[in-house]
Amino acid sequence: MSAVPVLIGARRPPAIEEASDAASAGPLVDTFGRVHRDLRVSLTDRCSLRCTYCMPEQGNEWLARSSILTVDEIEQIARVAAAAGVTTFRLTGGEPLLRTDIVDVVRRLAAITGPYGEPVELAMTTNGIRLPEVLPGLIEAGLGRLNISLDTLRPERFRDLTRRDRLDDVLAGIAAAAASGLRPLKLNAVAMRDVNDDELIDLVQFALDHDAELRFIEQMPLDAGHTWDRSRMVTRDEILDTLSTRWTLTPVPGRGGAPAERWSIDGGPHKVGVIASVTAPFCGDCDRLRLTADGQLRNCLFSTTEFDLLPVLRPPVAEPVEAVDKGIDRMLRACVRRKLPGHAINDPGFLQPARGMNAIGG
Ligand code: SAM
Repeated sequence: MSAVPVLIGARRPPAIEEASDAASAGPLVDTFGRVHRDLRVSLTDRCSLRCTYCMPEQGNEWLARSSILTVDEIEQIARVAAAAGVTTFRLTGGEPLLRTDIVDVVRRLAAITGPYGEPVELAMTTNGIRLPEVLPGLIEAGLGRLNISLDTLRPERFRDLTRRDRLDDVLAGIAAAAASGLRPLKLNAVAMRDVNDDELIDLVQFALDHDAELRFIEQMPLDAGHTWDRSRMVTRDEILDTLSTRWTLTPVPGRGGAPAERWSIDGGPHKVGVIASVTAPFCGDCDRLRLTADGQLRNCLFSTTEFDLLPVLRPPVAEPVEAVDKGIDRMLRACVRRKLPGHAINDPGFLQPARGMNAIGG
């Protein structure tokens, strides 16, 4: 088998990766020395909301159902990734709670251990809408952490932004998470000019009231409609200036490979974070890989190259599990080897990936 990257819209000649296709071992280290420990697993591209910065209201091109990975396939990829040193799995989408087998997915991944028998960390990013119904089952199955997205506390604004009248359902999901023992609980908000930038303080206060940590995300060029406009983006510095009018923020050291820079609020213990992918990229410490719901490995949110695991998982003639495991491992290593030093959003020649965020996995 050759680990051939698929350039979306075109095929690269197989020879490119063949020289480095030999099976190897050890952690997933790229050519810049970054060790990959985090795999984001998208479970579906479907969502119960239609956030303007992520998906179009109508006319989205959905992934073919036949290409969506089964729970067995996801478990097999995760098991091989854990053997190669991945320690954290984050379930995302689309909306991961729309998978009817979500409790089974969580149970299977939570049971995976690393090369020395150490348990993996299992987290989920969700809009929270189905949480009141499914959270007890997810916790019992082994879910360790939750991030819930919340961009506004105002019902009309929520309707405009998500094109759905579901704010009460999201708030009920956050209440269920706050009442559960899962900590740290994080809330994600994309900061947008003239949309919700007058709510930054209210959102942080809401998080504090729910024993949660708010993390603001700079809006990234990942909307399916390709309408991102740098001038509409609220920057990290603007967010900090606004929050500083209310609280004293002190930087929290020891960020490591985490996407969020964090500050303690009025001396702690509560904190707030900013994910400044555009104005303060953190690619130099990136330890993340992504798996799309249709089996494409990606080494960056903004990559235009994908590594197709479907032919490895579904060979024309059945292969022994060990052979498929080896194929997955090779593909993981090929994907990591091809990782670029940075996402290049700020380069003049930057090209937005063909997939929207919902089809990549946020
Ligand atoms: N449906 C889940 C949710 O709502 O959290 C998981 C998927 S969603 C794509 C994951 C995260 O990506 C959310 O916090 C969302 O706000 C963020 N996101 C989506 N599009 C984005 C964009 N263009 N820029 C920045 N963040 C974005």
